Amino acid sequence: MALLTILTEKDPILRKRSRPVTEINDRILTLLDDMAETMRHAEGVGLAAVQVGVLRRVVVIECEPGQLIELINPVIVETSGLQRTREGCLSLPGKCGLTERPMKVTVEATNREGKHFCVTGTGLLAKAFCHEIDHLDGILYSDVAKKMLTPEEIRAGGADLES
Ligand code: ZN
Repeated sequence: MALLTILTEKDPILRKRSRPVTEINDRILTLLDDMAETMRHAEGVGLAAVQVGVLRRVVVIECEPGQLIELINPVIVETSGLQRTREGCLSLPGKCGLTERPMKVTVEATNREGKHFCVTGTGLLAKAFCHEIDHLDGILYSDVAKKMLTPEEIRAGGADLES
């Protein structure tokens, strides 16, 4: 496995739309492994392939240690409720915003064996699904945030999501 470089806000690649994965080959499997290692090293809870410069619809999320979720071509199929919380992003280091996200999100995706599956998350996991899938369409949380926090407000309590 290898640590990948996480791109930051000013990199124009982050604004591009990622393409679907059409074949799960060794490159995609290596990408999944490297993304998980990179996310853990950066102490994030999620990472989209575009954040490491790969324009493919691939996401890893780990909100609970050891509970890695790998999503290939993920699509949000159902949402409900509302949460208004602090959100951050590994590509926007040092920043934090207030966002409104659904409280419960169901995602349909393909796993590394090529099988379709559905996964439902609430709270932090629901927020991570929205945040990462937005990345695949070139959207950053700062685009949808109700408010970006000042450094003083951030010091009073950081984000619970860096992804
Ligand atoms: Zn992010």
